[in-house]
Parts: sequence; structure tokens; C-alpha cells
Amino acid sequence: MKAKHITLLPHVTTHHEGLAQLKTAGDSVMIVRGVPRMLLMRCPCGCGDDLNINLDRRAGPAWRHYLREGALTLFPSYWRDSHCGSHFILWNSEIYWCDWDDDSYWNHSTGIETRVWDSLTYDWINYEALADQLGEIPWDVLQACYSLSRQGRVEQRAGRSTGAFRRKSLIKA
Ligand SMILES: [Zn+2]
Repeated sequence: MKAKHITLLPHVTTHHEGLAQLKTAGDSVMIVRGVPRMLLMRCPCGCGDDLNINLDRRAGPAWRHYLREGALTLFPSYWRDSHCGSHFILWNSEIYWCDWDDDSYWNHSTGIETRVWDSLTYDWINYEALADQLGEIPWDVLQACYSLSRQGRVEQRAGRSTGAFRRKSLIKA
């Protein structure tokens, strides 16, 4: 059974302590020593393995994390390229499996769409850069961009996973 959300347990200071907390798929605990170092997660796919998700750039490639009202978001997606091959997005403690064929169940925060629209120009910008500019979570900005695309106001640069968006020009050449 794939978990649909994580359970974020109170943070600990050591890896050993953290591992002892994990009981079921999706259980997660942050290791914090001065700054957040790592997120330990019992793999939400149900394989029983524990994932070590680095949050500390000084220790190598790291995920960005956002804690909002007790809910955890990771960026970018987590892709385990061995063993179970789990690939998911963690957004506000909810897990979105990357085997979808429909993104309609994504809901972005109200208000973000307007701010995203106001910030977009006729030049391409990557949603992650836009998120930084706005101080928002990249996934929220991406969903706002998708929503604006569905309304025909914004276009996404052609090519798989470019992540670049701009206002759609209404002038036909
Ligand atoms: Zn797994």
C-alpha cells in the first residue's frame, strides 16, 4: 500500500534516534543539529526501506525543504533510482506519486495564481526561479503556471520538463 501522506514526527538530533522512530510507510523524522541535516523517511511505497534525504547543502546535493504550518514540502521530487524506484513529490506533507497521467488533483494556494500572473512576462522564466523571486514553494508556482496554461493565458516552452513559462502572446505573427 502506497502512502498518500507522510507523518512528520518530532525532530531528533541523531540518525540512530531517528531510525528508532520510524514504524510505518511515510513516517518521517528530521535530524536537526543547529540546522536541519537530513530527513529520514520510511519509504512511502511500502517496501520497508528507510530513505536518507539530505537537507544540508554542505554535505552534498540536497533537497530544499519548506515547513509551513507544520507541513513539509521537498523540492525537487525524490527519485530513488535503485531498489523500489520510488518517485514522488512531497508537497505540504502529501505524497504525489510521479506515475500520474492527470494532474487535476493538484490544488495550489489561492492568491498565488494572481501573483504568478503579475510576475510573468513575455520572456521565458523557470518556475523555480519565479518561486524564489516570489518567496513561494516551487510546486505552488508550477501548479499556478499549469492552471494559467489551461486558461490559455500562459504557455510552457516546448520539450519535456523544461519548466519554463511565459505569457502567451496574443499577437499572431
Ligand atoms: Zn520503496
